[in-house]
Amino acid sequence: MQTLPPGSTIGILGGGQLGRMLSVAAAQLGYRCHIYAPDAVSVAAEVSAEFTRGQYVDIASLTSFAESCDVITFEFENVPVDPLHGIETCAPLHPPIGALDIAQNRIAEKYFARDHGGTTAPFAEVSDRAALNTAIADIGAPAILKTIRMGYDGKGQSRMQPGDDLDEHWEAVAHQPCVAEGFVTFDHEFSVILVRGQDGEIRFWDTPHNVHVDGILSVSTAPAPAEILAQQDDARALAAKMAEAMDYVGVLTCEFFATRDGPVFNEMAPRVHNSGHWTIEGAITSQFENHIRAICGLPLGDTGLAAEKVEMHNLIGAQADDWQSLLSDGANHLHLYGKGESRPGRKMGHITKLHF
Ligand code: AMP
Repeated sequence: MQTLPPGSTIGILGGGQLGRMLSVAAAQLGYRCHIYAPDAVSVAAEVSAEFTRGQYVDIASLTSFAESCDVITFEFENVPVDPLHGIETCAPLHPPIGALDIAQNRIAEKYFARDHGGTTAPFAEVSDRAALNTAIADIGAPAILKTIRMGYDGKGQSRMQPGDDLDEHWEAVAHQPCVAEGFVTFDHEFSVILVRGQDGEIRFWDTPHNVHVDGILSVSTAPAPAEILAQQDDARALAAKMAEAMDYVGVLTCEFFATRDGPVFNEMAPRVHNSGHWTIEGAITSQFENHIRAICGLPLGDTGLAAEKVEMHNLIGAQADDWQSLLSDGANHLHLYGKGESRPGRKMGHITKLHF
């Protein structure tokens, strides 16, 4: 285990709110963060020691960034994988590139979960318009068409009902290679959030119960209701097996549907996750701090709950404009990500509330 002393520089690929919260946690432990992102303005860079604006495929720029870092991590899971192999010689990269590779491909991700004993929705690969007919004939409707790559927060998805004009759905995903997924009838959604240290130790946070609206996370609550807790062991066992198989270091999130037949794996995020934002105030050690601890080779912190019940509400689009009234409830912990303009569907901030 390689321990990085405070004062070392942590490189973060990606410049959004996850990088911002990672950087704040790193600063608390005495580290400096260097953000690498293609955007002119980065809400992570605003709270970090250094910022390099560069394309993820610009090898020269990426290499000089990597040479300034003692360890590198990422907060954006669609960072192109190939250029990363070239910078691993400059500084260790955690989580491993292999985890990004799997998570960037919805089909590879489902096979990976199945190979480790998980259950997924029935699915079929749709590489062209003709394959969409075959897929629907195979798995039936309702179903969801999702682009294999680059989808998040319900983007790159089209929900198909029986009898729909499939041309319209193929149009909606811009003729991109897709996976057609059978619609899962579920009682609840939840996520397993774990951290794995360089020595292989795994710790789980309490399982949050997640409610999505329009494909975007709206509320996470911990502890989860009994119906979810009954499925927690199976879901955790799968997530741990997957983490071990990838020789994972850092925070890993796996999202599940709780169904009558047990947990159905939906997707994994090889990074800190929105459904774990409540851990900043709601757990003894947050997902951000433990990710930094893991990648820097420090002992992991306690993941226990800091209250009897914790809830996190995302502030999407104009919801963040109500920041003053949200603050009038003194129990609300308000987080704003510093993204100037609120747009529909844009994650602007969140509030966390602890109940004792
Ligand atoms: P995803 O981008 O795959 O996380 O999908 C976003 C949200 O859409 C999920 O959290 C679910 O609420 C819903 N969803 C995605 N896939 C399915 C499915 N196969 N069956 C039912 N609901 C789904």
